[in-house]
Amino acid sequence: MTDPYAEIRAEVARLCKTFPDSYWRELDRDGAYPTQFVDTLTRAGWLAALIPEEYDGAGLPLSGAAAILEEIQRAGANGAACHAQMYIMGALLRHGSDVQKAEYLPRIARGELRLQAFGVTEPTSGTDTSSIRTTAVRDGDRYIVNGQKIWTSRAEHSDLMLLLARTTPKAEVTKRTDGLSLFLVDMRAAREAGMTIRPIRTMMNHATTEVFLDDVPIPADSLVGEEGRGFRYILSGMNAERILIAAECVGDAKWFIDRASAYATERSVFGRPIGQNQGVQFPIARAYARMRAADLMVQDAARRFEADESCGAEANMAKMLAAEASWEAAEACVQTHGGYGFAEEYDIERKFRETRLYQVAPISTNLILSYLAEHVLGMPRSY
Ligand SMILES: Cc1cc2nc3c(=O)[nH]c(=O)nc-3n(C[C@H](O)[C@H](O)[C@H](O)COP(=O)(O)OP(=O)(O)OC[C@H]3O[C@@H](n4cnc5c(N)ncnc54)[C@H](O)[C@@H]3O)c2cc1C
Repeated sequence: MTDPYAEIRAEVARLCKTFPDSYWRELDRDGAYPTQFVDTLTRAGWLAALIPEEYDGAGLPLSGAAAILEEIQRAGANGAACHAQMYIMGALLRHGSDVQKAEYLPRIARGELRLQAFGVTEPTSGTDTSSIRTTAVRDGDRYIVNGQKIWTSRAEHSDLMLLLARTTPKAEVTKRTDGLSLFLVDMRAAREAGMTIRPIRTMMNHATTEVFLDDVPIPADSLVGEEGRGFRYILSGMNAERILIAAECVGDAKWFIDRASAYATERSVFGRPIGQNQGVQFPIARAYARMRAADLMVQDAARRFEADESCGAEANMAKMLAAEASWEAAEACVQTHGGYGFAEEYDIERKFRETRLYQVAPISTNLILSYLAEHVLGMPRSY
């Protein structure tokens, strides 16, 4: 079957080539944000892939966005610096008012505004989103927000943040997921009104932060959709997020496999290429087979998503299998390189650190397994 995105892939790969390994290595060393890379991607229109044409985006289906992110990772770049814009804007597109869509989507598509921050996770609630403690209390034509978010990635490099906060206390709702609301927060205005952001140093260069909201007023019209329905809105975007991140993991796996097989072929020890030893070949070949299988699941999930069929199980499986495949490929790549796998200048240790994240975020493997056990296999709910 011919790849409908072959041209897009070639264009993205060409763009990524102008940002060589040394670019990423230096940013990683300094913990710096790849502003130039993100600006270039934005100007080329790739980050507006999913924004409909009527709002000046490219209007591609999800599989087109997945192809873009896969190629970014395959080129050795780090799409985590900007991938969120692709899926966060889905909440605005599906649930925002016509006024919000007309005001924000074209400006996001043109690169005048960055929508890169998604404030859901909190220190005390972790994966249990319905227990978040950040509150937004209506006060005339504004809401007053109090609380703390953690792992809010790219908050320092975004003009807007999609924020989940509780608007009705948990004790007053029948379903624990009711009473949560979604807001589109203007980061500059919120910072001026007392929101503070503190970077968190992590094992990879990820620009993630803690966000503190202390009596921060936000306009009432920053509410997205109806009050109290925010949890449903973010759930509806999660399948897209999982499929896109799975595609990134497939791209990572391809990068590791390319590097490992090239090195195994060129490195000679005991007078012959190390790749002539099956002990070196097999882990790479196995990682390749796992990557291909995960890729099929990503394609199936994306096809279902685009056909408006139920795809929760497939999106979750795609994300889990692809994250495991990229990790297996990373392992094989380090092992193939021997000592050099640990040397900064080979970039493998950097990608190794980066790809590990996807077994934990945006959702950890255990939670995917419990979803499958309960919703697909009909076993009792565990939590
Ligand atoms: C670098 C990075 C970037 C991130 N970016 C964002 C972001 O931009 N926005 C945002 O909102 N969040 C973000 N996150 C948060 C991420 O989604 C969470 O870390 C993740 O969902 C897990 O939550 P937690 O860390 O609180 O782990 P916890 O919920 O405390 O879980 C810890 C461990 O226990 C396991 N566990 C918990 N409950 C169960 C159960 N019932 N059954 C079995 N196992 C269980 C989990 O699987 C996990 O392995 C980011 C995280 C990281 C590390």
